[in-house]
Amino acid sequence: MKQHFFTNISHDIRTPLTLIAGSINKLFNRENMDTAEQKYLKIIRTNTNRLLNLTGELLNFRKLETGNVTLQASEENLVDFVQEIYISFTQFAINKNIKYNFEYSQPEIKVWIDKNQFERAVCNLISNAFKYTPEEGEISVKVGYSNDGKATISIIDTGEGIEDGKINHIFNRFYQIDKQAEGNGFGVGLSITREIILLHGGNIQVKSTLGKGSEFTIYLHPGKKVLKKCRVHFITVESQYPVGVFHG
Ligand code: ADP
Repeated sequence: MKQHFFTNISHDIRTPLTLIAGSINKLFNRENMDTAEQKYLKIIRTNTNRLLNLTGELLNFRKLETGNVTLQASEENLVDFVQEIYISFTQFAINKNIKYNFEYSQPEIKVWIDKNQFERAVCNLISNAFKYTPEEGEISVKVGYSNDGKATISIIDTGEGIEDGKINHIFNRFYQIDKQAEGNGFGVGLSITREIILLHGGNIQVKSTLGKGSEFTIYLHPGKKVLKKCRVHFITVESQYPVGVFHG
């Protein structure tokens, strides 16, 4: 019932929000705005986008849950892909005075992924790192290979960490350690993230120490052999599939 409620309400909220977002973008294109107007418009845009993301997250969650997602996979360089997402969070790091790093073991790591879905997974992890790391902390995003040859993405923070007894529950839907926390979430982010990674034939692991920080690592098989067992369309340069999957 909770899920149905969220799905319906997300749909209803989303339509007017999309219209608001469209109008804001039009305003942004006007040239005669003063600094104060620009500043307020930016706040409106950031928060509209945040609401759009939240509703998108809930809708996407429902789609994943009901098995209605077909991956639109293309071959990507994981380093460029993750770096782009990393950069989009730079302002958060500045705002919270967080030391924010990006590292890679080599410049090219090829994987087959659904860019829209996978972006959601990586964004959720980085966004959580910012949510649960206090000011002056440190967040690192690393792309590389594991010892057994899997492509890896690690998001490491020096945030509040997770208690031993609770770590097994964090990937469950609607699970939040501190429900009162000013978290801007519903406790579905990690469950969506995990679902997306599993759809890619990969897996996710977490190491965490309460009061010290957390490290989330995504493991992906190189090549598309693993993906062949999944529900997937392969997008090659010759056959550019339209990306028809809902992505918020
Ligand atoms: P939420 O919307 O509450 O962030 P998530 O599914 O993304 O939901 O995460 C579930 C819970 O796991 C969070 O409420 C939080 O308690 C914990 N958590 C997730 N990421 C981190 C992190 N990087 N550091 C500490 N706790 C985390």
